[in-house]
Amino acid sequence: MTAYEAVKVRLDPTPRQARLLASHAGAARFAYNLMLSHVRRQLSLGEHPDWTMYAMRRWWNEWKDEIAPWWRENSKEAYNSAFEWLSQALKNWSDSRKGRRGGRRVGWPKYKSKRTSIPRFAYTTGSFGLIDGDPKALRLPRIGRVHCMENAARLVHGRRIVRMTVSRRAGAWYAALTVEQQPDTRPMAKTRRRDYPVGVDLGVKTLATLSDGTIFPNPRGYVRAQRRLRRAQQTLSRRDKDTNHGRGSNRRRKALDHVQHIYARIAAQRADRIGKLTTWLTATYPDISIEDLNVQGVTRNHRLAKHVLDADFGEFRRQLECKTARAGTRLHVIDRWFPSSKTCHRCGTVKAKLPLSERVYRCDECGLTMDRDLNAAINIMVAGSAPETLNARGGDVRRPGLAEATQTSVKREPSWHANAVRLGAAPGNRDM
Ligand SMILES: [Zn+2]
Repeated sequence: MTAYEAVKVRLDPTPRQARLLASHAGAARFAYNLMLSHVRRQLSLGEHPDWTMYAMRRWWNEWKDEIAPWWRENSKEAYNSAFEWLSQALKNWSDSRKGRRGGRRVGWPKYKSKRTSIPRFAYTTGSFGLIDGDPKALRLPRIGRVHCMENAARLVHGRRIVRMTVSRRAGAWYAALTVEQQPDTRPMAKTRRRDYPVGVDLGVKTLATLSDGTIFPNPRGYVRAQRRLRRAQQTLSRRDKDTNHGRGSNRRRKALDHVQHIYARIAAQRADRIGKLTTWLTATYPDISIEDLNVQGVTRNHRLAKHVLDADFGEFRRQLECKTARAGTRLHVIDRWFPSSKTCHRCGTVKAKLPLSERVYRCDECGLTMDRDLNAAINIMVAGSAPETLNARGGDVRRPGLAEATQTSVKREPSWHANAVRLGAAPGNRDM
């Protein structure tokens, strides 16, 4: 079976090309809605419509001159992609009614609204894709040679492109290229391997805290970007929601684009950082423990942070699973109900409550005082690599990796990792 991977590049169209892109996306939306209403009408007449993509194409080719005499303005791929999406949506709906989707209910497809649906269309056949001699451009049939913000050829890296989905988000156009994945034969990054297990706690304040005291800070500019985001959201909340027949003012539209743009940037920065973190972890430790999902993480007033985090957790776990399998590293995923933050790693006492604002864990029983995330990371490590010691605390559960946590010296890391710092067991060493 061939595996596929998606490569996403931001497009930089000329104003004319941007108009054509919008026209193609509009054509796809039109075809989708038209076909959906056709299927509905057939159903209401008691017929059994054929909703395979091919049947839809046949019907469209028969009627397009009459219904949409302008159809030649757009590539036929725009209409075809709409039929493919609708056909899949109808199949999902009918499968779920037959109980074939694991009991999950899938609703009847909705009409795509010009205002709320994401403008998009796709190419699957024809001469779309990379252009020889111009790595920073893509060929979009009927639209032309569209310049890209990134080096598309380098990202594709010689792999075969089977599909190109074009969509507009936060005021910008993107091309998502589906490429055939090749077995990854690159050698693992060379780092000084450590011979003890590690637990990883992902967080908001810092990207990751490791049980041996290593800290991965958030990307540079992260705090500033969050501040900008908060301001942009305030602006958005002040914009008029009710004008234009409830569609909101144009200034609101603009403010929303701005919020989405900053949000996308933050997410991209964290994603980049997570890629590096997972590579380094896999190359450095023989045994890695992580939490299933950060449920006790962030709630209510940290709604945005939670958003970013949820996406991060999924990606973090996915990448770790991939990379550890390849490198032969053990990976433990801890049950999500394990109270890693509330448990004292030294004596095992579990606190009833630990507000997020308390950054330092203080144990009332044994007097342990430690950075909250570090304590959690140690618990995750123990739960993953030595769960048998969990109920036998009080004795010496110190393990090689733990001992290092009491060191405060900064150890040299690979260059990209230079701003990782070591965290002492006592608070106050944390210079962040
Ligand atoms: Zn304690």
